[in-house]
Amino acid sequence: MTHEVPPSLPSADAAAPPRGRAPGGSPGAGPAYPAATSVPPASTGSASTGPASTGAASTGPAVAEEADVIVVGAGPAGSATASYLARAGVDVLLLEKAQFPREKVCGDGLTPRAVKALIDMGVPVGEQDGWVRNKGLRIIGGGVRLELPWPELSSYPGYGLVRTRLDFDEILARTAQKAGARLLEGVTVTGPVLDDDGRITGVTARSTADARGPERSYRARVIVAADGNSSRLSLAMGLSKRDDRPMGVAVRTYYTSPRHDDDYLESWLDLWDGPRQLPGYGWIFGMGDGTSNVGLGMLNTSESFGNVDYRDLLRRWLAGMPAEWGYVEENRTLPIRGAALPMGFNRTPHYTRGLLLAGDAGGMVNPFNGEGIPYALESGELAAEFIAQALARPDAAGAERVLMAYPQALKAAYGGYYTLGRRFVQMIGNPKVMQFATRHTMPRPALMRISLKLLANLTEPRGGHATDRVIHALSKMTPAA
Ligand SMILES: Cc1cc2nc3c(=O)[nH]c(=O)nc-3n(C[C@H](O)[C@H](O)[C@H](O)COP(=O)(O)OP(=O)(O)OC[C@H]3O[C@@H](n4cnc5c(N)ncnc54)[C@H](O)[C@@H]3O)c2cc1C
Repeated sequence: MTHEVPPSLPSADAAAPPRGRAPGGSPGAGPAYPAATSVPPASTGSASTGPASTGAASTGPAVAEEADVIVVGAGPAGSATASYLARAGVDVLLLEKAQFPREKVCGDGLTPRAVKALIDMGVPVGEQDGWVRNKGLRIIGGGVRLELPWPELSSYPGYGLVRTRLDFDEILARTAQKAGARLLEGVTVTGPVLDDDGRITGVTARSTADARGPERSYRARVIVAADGNSSRLSLAMGLSKRDDRPMGVAVRTYYTSPRHDDDYLESWLDLWDGPRQLPGYGWIFGMGDGTSNVGLGMLNTSESFGNVDYRDLLRRWLAGMPAEWGYVEENRTLPIRGAALPMGFNRTPHYTRGLLLAGDAGGMVNPFNGEGIPYALESGELAAEFIAQALARPDAAGAERVLMAYPQALKAAYGGYYTLGRRFVQMIGNPKVMQFATRHTMPRPALMRISLKLLANLTEPRGGHATDRVIHALSKMTPAA
């Protein structure tokens, strides 16, 4: 991805060579920037401890480990952050409450934007490695069925992928581990450790298997919250969700189906709640393993949001499908489960007092299409770049200046596009607009090809086709808020 890191900074490799991995600490990268070992005695943080409660306690949980950076959560955002940091020679501790492999509620669909981010991260994405490729998006709506191949661009591959999150997240976490990150599974972070100024200097955690077990603390100079939509760590630092940003809700399950090897991702625009067309879509993604991932998502910009029984809506929608596709109760292989989609930067600022936010923790799901994985991976890469540069600064003020620039870089990358996305979801929240858009854009394939580029954020950043330039210019001209 393209983003702005101060060009004059020394490379992290040069300034911060790989460090020891032994528990108990790592040598600091710069003498004046406080190292993990020099923080004052812990003030015990907990999920309910806000930034105000900063008094340094004389006793606190035993310090279990120290690192330059702690990343909380080994989903796509956390594993990407940890991977890039480790590659830059930074000593990074990745704390994950679950044990891999673990399930995660998701559509499992990866657009070319996500594929590019995986390739950047060094993840092998060949079919021989178990990935199932797709050629594009099939959209069904307004009585029209349209197959739109992914655009051919220099910046993104011309194919997408699917992979269950059971595999996917473990692959990413192991990639971070191979790069040198110290991954601790089964460790639930319970809150921040704060110094007298309210700056985060570590986290408290306990074994997930022993909810009543002792708390231990983990110390670092920089902490990353990559703990997903709920981001209890951000909450404990006083960063709550913004109500002026869109939010989605989605449910999904799996059915054994002859359509499991579909080579297009399929999206259905006709979701109805009685006479109202809902702002959202249903999807059917063939997993290539005998099953289809089937689900639907909806935006909070409609009046129906919050009044809809999503599981029932899914069943009603599937009841209209041809019987031979097999989307019936007897073929369902997992319960219908749902989760929220935090969109358009719904938690800000993305940096405060030693804590950076990446992925869903920072509300980075694309409001246009509900996709979050590429933004989790990209923001992880970006966070790692800024942290590596900050750690290489010889003094605390210099390091802070670099970290403070991370939110600006995020805004430069996505701010205008997300503002456009917010306007889009406001408009389609009106059932009449949604109905009009479906009826009048679906019969126009050329318009839909442009829409695909806009909705999936797949344009050349420089040059490219005239439509790419228009979309890009629109995103850049729209104020990032
Ligand atoms: C139904 C549904 C379908 C979706 N479909 C798609 C799709 O097809 N394509 C797409 O691109 N996006 C999709 N998304 C969005 C996507 O799932 C998210 O945007 C993505 O998972 C964000 O990654 P993340 O790393 O930020 O957070 P997460 O994936 O949520 O990872 C957070 C990690 O932090 C860990 N964690 C949380 N709290 C703690 C703690 N206290 N201590 C330690 N660890 C902790 C969690 O166990 C988890 O491993 C979908 C979302 C939903 C709900």
